[in-house]
Amino acid sequence: MAAIDHKDQFKQRVRHWAGKLDVKIAWLGVRPMRSKWASCSTAGHLNFSDELPALKPELWDYVIVHELLHFSVPNHGRLWKSLMRAHLGDYEAHERALKRIATSSAPVSPLSPTASPAPLTPPP
Ligand SMILES: [Zn+2]
Repeated sequence: MAAIDHKDQFKQRVRHWAGKLDVKIAWLGVRPMRSKWASCSTAGHLNFSDELPALKPELWDYVIVHELLHFSVPNHGRLWKSLMRAHLGDYEAHERALKRIATSSAPVSPLSPTASPAPLTPPP
């Protein structure tokens, strides 16, 4: 469970990077997300998964810089990769770590879009 103060720290971190990368954020949200860590739009809207603040700050940086770079580089091409490396170093290790977390902590069945209800225990 992500503590409130982690969420605040996370948002501060986003603003720190936004200042560094000269990105104007119109909206910054941290909310439950499915199958993605973050999303951004060219209008300056940024949303991050509320599971992120509970993870290691190195992983915050990966997701934050990843999204912020999309404001100037819309794809994951050579320019994007070289900027990621310039800011984060070995970002691919973080990418792999996040993929592992996403696949291990989210046992979401494609057949049940919502969490399955707790099994009913029959009365004795
Ligand atoms: Zn991306």
